[in-house]
Amino acid sequence: MSLQDTVINTETVAPGDKEYDDAVRVLFGTGSPALVARPRDADEIAAALAHAVRRGLTVSVRSGGHSLLGHGTNTGGLVIDLRHLDGIEVLDVDRRLVRIGGGATWGRVADALDPRGWAITSGDTAGVGVGGLTLGGGFGWMVRRYGLAVDNLVAARVVTADGRLLTASETENPHLFWALRGGGGNFGVVVSFDFVAQPVATVHRGTVTYQLDDAAELVVRWRDAMRSAPEEMTSTLVLPPAAPGEIPEAMVMLCYAGEGGAGDRVAEANAAIEPLLELGTVLRASIAECRYADLLEDTAPPPGLRIEGRNTLVRSINDEVVDAVDRMHRSSSPAMIALRSLGGAFSRVMSGATAFAHRDAEAMIIAMVVLPGTASDDDVAQALLPWHAVAARGMGSYTNFQSSASASDVAAAYPPATYTRLALVKRAYDPGNVFARNHNVRPGDGLPRPRRA
Ligand SMILES: Cc1cc2nc3c(=O)[nH]c(=O)nc-3n(C[C@H](O)[C@H](O)[C@H](O)COP(=O)(O)OP(=O)(O)OC[C@H]3O[C@@H](n4cnc5c(N)ncnc54)[C@H](O)[C@@H]3O)c2cc1C
Repeated sequence: MSLQDTVINTETVAPGDKEYDDAVRVLFGTGSPALVARPRDADEIAAALAHAVRRGLTVSVRSGGHSLLGHGTNTGGLVIDLRHLDGIEVLDVDRRLVRIGGGATWGRVADALDPRGWAITSGDTAGVGVGGLTLGGGFGWMVRRYGLAVDNLVAARVVTADGRLLTASETENPHLFWALRGGGGNFGVVVSFDFVAQPVATVHRGTVTYQLDDAAELVVRWRDAMRSAPEEMTSTLVLPPAAPGEIPEAMVMLCYAGEGGAGDRVAEANAAIEPLLELGTVLRASIAECRYADLLEDTAPPPGLRIEGRNTLVRSINDEVVDAVDRMHRSSSPAMIALRSLGGAFSRVMSGATAFAHRDAEAMIIAMVVLPGTASDDDVAQALLPWHAVAARGMGSYTNFQSSASASDVAAAYPPATYTRLALVKRAYDPGNVFARNHNVRPGDGLPRPRRA
């Protein structure tokens, strides 16, 4: 029996098939798996998993394929590509309850909810998958207004490593539900997510470009403006690496998600945006009201480059943090530094309430290093040297913006109590660590047996 034959009734792509070259490629990697399965329902997922477990194959689960580590493909294993599970179904209009397939992308979700005047806070990029972004937490343009994507999740249907279909919610398999909200793809294949959408038809978005005279001063001014901003306002300060011969610039990207009558909304948006126009010498500004669906961009990194992301969440943008960011920006590191504002609804969730634990962070700081495709690990380490001083001032990191998944990355993502609980959930739902191609949580000791859906 061939590898392909044993995955009964599932669309598959195997080496030699004409689609194979496309099927094994994701944004940050090209693999050579033994088989790519494209299931259409939970039974087909279970069959694919049984096939992998029988043969001891590495399992990759793919939603939008945007993992920074290329986890959506592998070498010699099985890829479960969820592209056919991309349905978006309104379950309850009054509650704005929406069921979204585990393989949908956020751009399609935004487009589907737009005619109802609804939106779910998600990421900034249309092609990112609902699966990967949600399971890591999900930082979007309305994070201060509506929290993380997972803060709007009320249930998920999950196929576990042994092929059972379980519902996870506050009342069914609650430990699993807790773990899915930040613990990544460690616990099973999520067939669908049930979210409560928010009444958001339009938002004000903008980019303000500043002449960058003094990065430290700009960071402090942006921080102070965001400390007194309403939580309808979310913004990111971007410090690109200095380009030789060019006037240094910095950008503030903003999104104001307000409610109220048309007049009120515009006036309130303008009042909230104004302080972000006064941080320094403005070179350009473009601000407009748009559909939430138009906010999501469809960007992909140019091919042939090596891109490495690191991030840390800081409790406070204090003098030490400002100094470390400033030093990194002044260094020769080819890193783009971005500071994403947090607080608001994001911080009102208790740290222990979800597996994403770093709730008292004022900001997330991201460093994105772009190097030639030929860059070695040593080149990357060199480019990231000034980052260590920034990371040392953080309380931990967000898995989804981390191009590294070592044991220390996992430890940075999950504080000890969170990790211990995740390890117990892992033991209950994936004791054989079938789902290991992620920021991996190892099975630990003792939770009650899971309940069936
Ligand atoms: C251009 C770009 C922009 C981004 N913007 C944002 C942003 O604004 N906010 C933010 O929070 N993150 C953002 N990210 C990070 C993003 O959240 C992660 O890269 C995420 O893992 C991508 O999800 P995916 O489903 O597209 O990726 P995939 O590679 O398909 O999946 C990533 C991992 O998630 C798990 N997984 C995915 N789907 C399922 C499922 N249904 N069931 C079980 N496990 C599953 C698997 O472990 C898989 O390896 C961005 C990334 C990129 C490349």
